[in-house]
Order: sequence, then structure tokens, then C-alpha cells
Amino acid sequence: MNKFIQTSLLLTLTAYCSAEVLKNPTSYSSDLYKKVILNGNYDSSIDHPNIFLDFKYGERVASPEQIEHAINTYKQQSNKIKLVNYGTTHEGRPLHALIISSPDNIAQLDTIKENLSALSDGRTTNDREAKKIIDSLPAVAWMAYSIHGNETSGSDAALGLIYHLLASNDPEINNLLENMIIIVDPIMNPDGRARFVKSLEQYRGTAPNYDDQSLIHTGDWPYGRTNHYYFDLNRDWLYLTQPETQGRVALINEWKPQILVDAHEMGAQDTFMTGPAREPINKNMDRDLIKWGNIFAQDQGSEFDRRNWRFYTGEWHEDLYPGYSFYVNFRGTLGILYEQSRMAEDGVRRPEGTIQSYKESVHHQFVSSLTNLNTLLINSKNMYNDYWEGRKLNVSKESKWANQSFVILPTKNTSRINTIVDKLTSQNIEIFKNTKEIIVKNALKQSGDTIDELVIPIGSMIIPNRQPEAPLISAILEFDAEIDEEVLKKEREATLKDGSSIMYDTTAFNFTMMYGLDAVTVPEHINNNLSMWQPALVEIDVDDDAIMWIVEGEDDLSVSFAARLMEQGLQLRIVDKDINLSGKNLSRGSVVVIAMDNPGISELTSTIKRTAQNLNISVSSLFSGFGPEELPDWGGRHFRLLTKPQIAILSHEGFSSYDVGVSWWSLDHHLGIRHSQLNTSMIGYADLRRYNTLIMPSGYRSLDQNELSVLKDWVKQGGTLIANNSSTRMLISDKSITSIRDVSDSIENSHEYNIKLQREFLSKNISIDLDYVNNNKLTSDISYPWEESENRIDSDTLQKRDKWQSLFMPSGAFVSGRTDDKHWLTFGTINTLPLLYSNYPILMAGSGSKAVIRVGELTKNNNQDKYKTINWSDIPPGNELNVRMSGLVWPEASVRIANSAYLTQERYGKGQIILFSGEPNFRGSTLGTNRLWLNSVVYGSGLGTSPRIKP
Ligand SMILES: [Zn+2]
Repeated sequence: MNKFIQTSLLLTLTAYCSAEVLKNPTSYSSDLYKKVILNGNYDSSIDHPNIFLDFKYGERVASPEQIEHAINTYKQQSNKIKLVNYGTTHEGRPLHALIISSPDNIAQLDTIKENLSALSDGRTTNDREAKKIIDSLPAVAWMAYSIHGNETSGSDAALGLIYHLLASNDPEINNLLENMIIIVDPIMNPDGRARFVKSLEQYRGTAPNYDDQSLIHTGDWPYGRTNHYYFDLNRDWLYLTQPETQGRVALINEWKPQILVDAHEMGAQDTFMTGPAREPINKNMDRDLIKWGNIFAQDQGSEFDRRNWRFYTGEWHEDLYPGYSFYVNFRGTLGILYEQSRMAEDGVRRPEGTIQSYKESVHHQFVSSLTNLNTLLINSKNMYNDYWEGRKLNVSKESKWANQSFVILPTKNTSRINTIVDKLTSQNIEIFKNTKEIIVKNALKQSGDTIDELVIPIGSMIIPNRQPEAPLISAILEFDAEIDEEVLKKEREATLKDGSSIMYDTTAFNFTMMYGLDAVTVPEHINNNLSMWQPALVEIDVDDDAIMWIVEGEDDLSVSFAARLMEQGLQLRIVDKDINLSGKNLSRGSVVVIAMDNPGISELTSTIKRTAQNLNISVSSLFSGFGPEELPDWGGRHFRLLTKPQIAILSHEGFSSYDVGVSWWSLDHHLGIRHSQLNTSMIGYADLRRYNTLIMPSGYRSLDQNELSVLKDWVKQGGTLIANNSSTRMLISDKSITSIRDVSDSIENSHEYNIKLQREFLSKNISIDLDYVNNNKLTSDISYPWEESENRIDSDTLQKRDKWQSLFMPSGAFVSGRTDDKHWLTFGTINTLPLLYSNYPILMAGSGSKAVIRVGELTKNNNQDKYKTINWSDIPPGNELNVRMSGLVWPEASVRIANSAYLTQERYGKGQIILFSGEPNFRGSTLGTNRLWLNSVVYGSGLGTSPRIKP
């Protein structure tokens, strides 16, 4: 017997034996909580949940498959249920909503939905009709559970609720079903729940574990909260990037429920929270709903009191960000949040020594659900009346939104426009195109400046704010969400006292800034010369006899087109300057396939055509490579050869799962090309030569010296290293791989950074005095920009100020990005690009590097006749700088980040390092900065490194 066989036999034997000797636990968690959740007089033809579980209902976490099995059985067993499949997750799990009501109501669902629709449009329905509809309508409730996969008790409560509603013979439940449509969305995130259930299985021992720090309670990276691509689905309700949210929102909007319950869990040592949010509350929200929220919370609180269960309302629950499930609050539906303290399996030991069992948390969610349904039953008609009044107001001249329109200016970025159209129409927002130029006064720009008179070009996208979804339109398109002075006071107090915050999410979120689209807000109701929005036509013209084929570079899909063709072995070029060929104007960044570059490719044109069809992007055939006058010709240096990217994402423990997930998703969703995800613990010994592009999502893992030197060697040999946020911070603090520094680390050299900045400013604004230049006599009259400033600040003061200013960094607000419009990284971006900004590293780019995007839009100000010094930098005369665009950016923070770089590019050996100060792909929704990242990933290996010729 050789040694290997011996060892493995031994291992098998050991495993077998130890399974035999496991001890029974000294107690079971079923001892902990004796109360019965499903306590009723039930119809025996409906299966009890225990039938579907391998444990007693409520004592453990049911898997998505177990709940699914129950749902499919109930569909067969009951005529009080209609099952709707509203989507499929990335991992192939079905997403189900169950419509539960009396059989009579179930037979009438279409009529009920039509009536709800009629009641939602004050333009086509009158008061008399509305009253009739309200009299006939049942109440409608949407009950949704466990959107965060590791917040499990909600879905278990849902399973019990479904059974209880279907099986109970109780007259109260019959009455409920006769008067109400209850839509149960039992597992909002089956992929996340499945991941967590798997970890419960893996970390389960023999004895119950009540220690909330142990792996069975926490799970491990990337945790169960998020979906397959590690997206937080409870931030996706407006941006609709994931199949779970897309299907769900379509169905909710069809049903227009009166309440939407969203059942979560929070910290294990907490209790239970529900009830209306505290400030800041988004000002567009229907105020009636706050009144109703209190009524529901009171009933729920009384029920908890009666049962001797602890709870609270408000506290940390705020509602400024409209992309939670509470987007429904802007559509007239009352959103109700549950937050149960989180425990998996057996229960959690609390500081007072008691153990709260999992079953009790399921019970809390179950009782809350039934209590809310009963409150709705009593108040439904009054809530419908309020709803109807609100819907009438939205379309009237009297609403606060009535005289406001949002305008998105025309762009060649057709795919991005199509995306915004898709998101807005998913929310039933009506959008138009102007067929004539429109002259408007006092249009508000994204920068916050107003234009006295603006001509809106033909073909702009017009969204008048006087329409049924007016509050939601305003919430997601207004440039700045209003925050009360009182809230700002409290926030500043928290910041100063201990660096905490009362803001729970980003304070800026509007669609046009997220998407990097130029837009204005017009203070009038635009309704003339409009036609319904029609998408631009796609023309795929791929002529076999052409010498080259080209797609427009401003369109984001051009990057996907390039990536997908390179993957199929084609040689591609990109034009780095605007061009005019065969009478066609195309922007820099346009992607070209030249027949001569691809002599060996059979079916060249059919490959191009198929790829364009898959992506739905226009292609033109060109028969001449001559560009008039100074414009580029096809054989010149502006037609730059690309290199196929071979991509790996560094991943796992230590990296932000959100940023890893969204990078991964971005490659799959936008490009659909092959790439690898590497466990970073492998970096020291993996064969990195397989990749020419490495992505480092934001992460907190410091590389050790060996790993760093492997990485450095790889870059030197021609690799492109792309890093975000905290990974950028790690690389710049190492100081050996990049010359970029954080502002706090560069104060001694601030003069050098200012000189580089002044060179950029001066190069953009050149005027030549011929006499002065051609004078042969030596002059002493030379201007040095840094000498013009009267207020240079010494290092010591800078240091102190920096430390103070660093207290006030934003957490998710827009600042303006000034783009280098010659650099390849900015293909397809607008000149002033909104940057979602938080407490990011503040990048200082010295002479060896390029600051591709800097913070601050330079605007004219003729009153400013001297250089103005802001921290380390000078603003030239005649100008001023706009930094804040939207959300909370304290003036201290604006000053601190002004003129720093958001994106840098720097050569290192034959390769390059591209650093993002922030997270350019945030939530899959910052399409403006996502484009920069896609450019870096797809074009980096060709445009920023030394070309490699294979021998
Ligand atoms: Zn949650």
C-alpha cells in the first residue's frame, strides 16, 4: 500500500468514526420559545408548513426550495391563490408573488386592476367615477419579505402567513380575504438566502449556538445580504439593474397597492423597529402617508405591547434616498418597514442574559403582518380617498410640481438614452421629444447656475412634471433634494461631536447626474410641439465592399462592440479625435474595423454584422479613408490599434463585496466577455502573465511586500492595473508603485502640484502677443503664475486646515468633474461630469502622471481679477470653481477636494496604473463614471501601454 492510499484511508476512517461519536446536544432550541405561531382552526386539506420542512415551522431557516415547494403545493390545494412568476434570478431561481384573496375576488383580478388604474389618473377619471370605484374596490396590500438574504425571519413568517390565510376557517380571515387582495412576495432575494442557508448548513454543529459573533450567525464573504452579483436589492428600486427588482417593480406598479410591507432584520442585539421614518424625509413624499404611517405603527405597537414584545419607531430610519422599497411612497403607496433583530437558527444571547429564539423573531414578523392587514382593512376606503385626492393634485395646475419640466439635451450616446427611457417608463413616467426648438427662460443647469434664455434643441427629451407620477419624477430628476436647516444642524452637530452622521444613504441620486447626461430644469410646464418619445433607429450597414466599418464612439455600446469583436479575434482601431469620413461626422472614441488589418479573418463582415445586431448598435460602412483638411485620415496616427484585454478581477476577503460584484456585473452586463475572478490570496504565486488587465475593486486588504513586488513586475512588463477607492488608497500609501499621493501626504510638495495645475489651466487659454513674442531684446517681464497669488498658504497652516477639513467629507454627493477632453479615458463622457463622491482618497497628480479628471468646473467670473488661492491650488483670474452639484457637501470638503484628481493615469515601465479616487460603477447605476471604467478596462491594454509585437 503506498503512502497516499494509506493516508486517505486513515482520513476516511477518522471521519467515519467521529460521526459516530458526536454527542447529542444538552438542550434544543425548541425549548426556548413555547408560543405557537400558527394557532388557528385550519382546513385540513391545506398542508401545514411542517410538511415541507425538515424541522418544526419557525424553529429554523427554511430554504428557498422548501418555500417554493410549499407555494407550488398551495397553488394546487387552494382556490384562494393565484401564483405570478415575475422573474428569474441570475442563479435561475423563480421569483414568485402570490395573490391571495377570496375565490370571488381571484376571479375578478383583471377588473380590479383596471379600476386601480382608472383611480390613478386624474385626467381620465372624474370624482363621480372615482367614488364608484372606491366603493367597489377591495383593499390591496403588498407583503414583501427578506430582500436581504441573511435577514431570514421574514420569509419564514411569509410561509406561515400564506398558510394561515389559505387554511384558516376563522371568520375574521374570511372577512379579510373577501375585502382585500393580499399579494405576498415571500422571498425577495432567493439567491442571497440560498447562499446564507448553505452557510448555516456548513457551520452547524451539534449544539445550539447563541453567540452572534460565530460564523453560523454571521456567514462569510460575500455574505447572504446581496444577490448573485452582490447587489443590495434594497437600493435598486429606481435604478432597476437587477432581474429581481425589474420584475418586482413592474408588478407592484401594475397593482398600485395601498401598503407595501418590507420586512428586514437588523443587529442581533437590537429589538424590533417599525413605523414612519424620521427626518430627513424626501420633500416629494406624499405627506398623507406620514399620517397613515403613524396609524399603522400605533396599531402594531399596541399589539406588541399586548404581547409584551419590545419595539421602537423612527430612530435611525430616515427617508431621503428614494431608491429603497419606499419609492412607492412617491406613488401613493404607504411603505412600512420592519426591522427585527437578526438571529439565525437557534437564537441569540442578549446582554441581559436571556436568549431570544429564532422562532420568536419569526413570530414578530408574522404578528406584525396580520396586524398591518387588519389596520388596512379598517382604513382602506379613507386611504383610497386620500390617494384619489393626491392623484388629482399631481395632474393639476395647483401642485408644487405643476410648473416645472425636466429636459435632457440631445446626445449621440443612444444606448444611454435608451437606458434612461427604460427606467423612467418602468415607473409609468411619460416622456416626450420636442419637434421644434423651444426658447425658455431661467433654465437651471446641473451646476446650479441659471441660463437667462436657453434654446432647447429639437429632439431633446422633455419630461413635464405635471403628470400622474409627478412626485416620483421630481424625487428622481430634481438636481438637489431639499434638506431642512434643522436636519443640517443635527448632521453638523453629529459630525463635529464624534464624526457620526444622521444620513443613512447617499444624499444625491438624481438620474441625469448618475447617468452623466446633460440636463436642465425649466421652471415652466412645457406642453407644446411635443411628440411621444420614440427610440432612435438602429441602422446596421455592413457592406462587404467597404474598406472599413465604424461605430459612433460616444455611444457606450461602442465599447461593448470593440470588446466583443476583439474577443472574436478581430484587429480593431479606435479614433482618438473627432473625424469626418465620407461625409459622416463621428466622435473621438469611434471604433473602426479596417479590412486590411484583418486579412486572415473569414466571415469578417458577418461577424461585425452579428455583433452589432446582438448589441443593437448602428454601424456604417466607409469607402474612403480621407478626412478633409486637418481631420484625421485612416493611415495616420489617430487611428490607434487596440489590444485584446485579458482581464482578471482581484476578489474575496478584504475587498468590498459591493465593488467586486458591480465590477463583475459590469463586465458581464455591459460587455459579456470572458474574464477571471482571482482569490487575492493567490496573487503571490499565480501566473499573472495570462492577463494584461487587472482590476482591483475597492478593498481593505493591504498587499504584503511580496505581493506588491509581483504586481509591480507585472505592470512593468506591460500590464494595466486599475484600482478603485480603498485599493487606490492602499497603492498610493505604499508610495513605491505610483507617484500619485493623497492630499494629506503631499503638503510639503504642494508647489509642484500647483505648477502642474497651472500648466493645464494656461494651456487651455492661450493668447499670443506677437510683438512681445518676436521681440529680440531680452525681457524681465515674464509672468510666473504662482507669484501672482497674494495669499500663498504655508505648509503648517495647510496641514492643520487639511486635518480639520477632513472631518467634513461627504458620504455620497455629486461634485463636478472637469474632464481632459483629449485623453482616451474620457471617450463618451461630457465635459462637466458629475462624480458621486464620498470619503475617498484625494488624489494629487504630479508631473509624471496625468490627471484625467479633476474636481471642480471652471466657470467665468469677470469680477475675479486676481489669482485666488484655495488650499494648495490657485484659480486663475477671470474664473471661479464650482464643486458641489447635488447633495450634502460641506464647504470645508469642497475646498479640500477642489482641483484634486478623481481619475489618474500613469505609465509604469511598459505598463500603466489607472487610479479612480471613487467607485465608478456604484450600484451599477453611475453610468457617467462607469464609462470611464469601461474605457480603462477595454482600451487600456491598447492605448496606455507600450505596444507589443509578437515575434
Ligand atoms: Zn435589510
